[in-house]
Amino acid sequence: MSETTKTPWGILTGIRPAKLATKLLREGKTDKDVMDYFLNECGTTPEKAALALETAKAEMPVEDAMDKDGISLYVGIPFCPTRCLYCSFVTCGTRQAAKLIPEYLECLKKEIAFAGKLTADNGKHLETVYIGGGTPTTLSADQLHELLSQIEDSFALSSCKEFTVEAGRPDTVTAEKLKTLRQHGVNRISINPQSMNTETLHTIGRAHTPDDIRGAMELARDCGFDCINMDVIAGLPGETFEMFRYTMEEVEKLKPENTTVHTMSIKRSSRLHEYLGDYALTDGAQVETMVDFAYRYMKELGKHPYYMYRQKNQLGNLENVGYCKPGTENLYNIYIMEELQTILSVGCGGVTKTVDPVKNKIERIFNVKEPQDYIARLDEMIDRKKNMFEEL
Ligand code: SF4
Repeated sequence: MSETTKTPWGILTGIRPAKLATKLLREGKTDKDVMDYFLNECGTTPEKAALALETAKAEMPVEDAMDKDGISLYVGIPFCPTRCLYCSFVTCGTRQAAKLIPEYLECLKKEIAFAGKLTADNGKHLETVYIGGGTPTTLSADQLHELLSQIEDSFALSSCKEFTVEAGRPDTVTAEKLKTLRQHGVNRISINPQSMNTETLHTIGRAHTPDDIRGAMELARDCGFDCINMDVIAGLPGETFEMFRYTMEEVEKLKPENTTVHTMSIKRSSRLHEYLGDYALTDGAQVETMVDFAYRYMKELGKHPYYMYRQKNQLGNLENVGYCKPGTENLYNIYIMEELQTILSVGCGGVTKTVDPVKNKIERIFNVKEPQDYIARLDEMIDRKKNMFEEL
């Protein structure tokens, strides 16, 4: 590769660099062959070549142990207490949500019941569940109970290895909700600080403090959660390297089993994109320093990269990486990122993906993104899935 290489990932434009490394390893290539391929054919930096290789090696045993008749279920809850500056998802603020949630939940329960029948009729069973959004813990404890009961009634959960619920905003986390999750078999949650700097939390539109994060983590441990993920973002507006390092150190004091390090991405439908001139963005080189620090720091603490993906318009053309303590890899994240397993998605914004490894065929259908649309067009969402599975 020539001197023209401008970005850490060289000519690689895809969102799944580790998938390429896995493919090469599956073909019998050695670690050195893979490194050489990334360096010489793709023009990546040695750091990114090693990251792709290491991630692929963490993913492969998970893929080998995957249940071939398993599927994953994704449930979308498109409600958050406030909207983050950089958010491009369709989420409703609390006031609008309070009106919509009961009707949304009724529709969601119907779609879950349908998804359960579809799964059983196709001889499949549930291997992982992921409830995301949005912030699912925007729902009350009673509403969470209703939702989780519907999943239990619709699917045989005896084969389910992993049940994740995002509890991203600490200001939505209560002991009652956490206990409800535990009672229904949820065994992994995600509490997402993004930054541990008060000023930054204010800038990005989150109505909580770093102490709220610490409190939510303590509550979650008290309620018995022993697998918790925390998300952080490198390159948030106004953040220096020192601020990012402080976030990483404060997060790791809370000892999450998984830490996901995202790189700031400027999404077109975000408020940040609209008012870009009002914010001090971190330059690409500095974000790279943050991301490199995160990698080294995670390794020092005994965590390894286990899944990764790239997005459009990420500062410095970098990537998002999930790190974990050995043995706490989140299966769902690997399955979805490496496109290993069929994912049935219900609720707003979900993408149902059928994966046929024998025919090497992947198909996708999309649920609508707006809750009002979802409520009005539920039958259509159900019919789309019915048709998709009939064609399999
Ligand atoms: S918590 Fe996530 S989904 Fe909710 S507003 Fe923030 S970025 Fe968007």
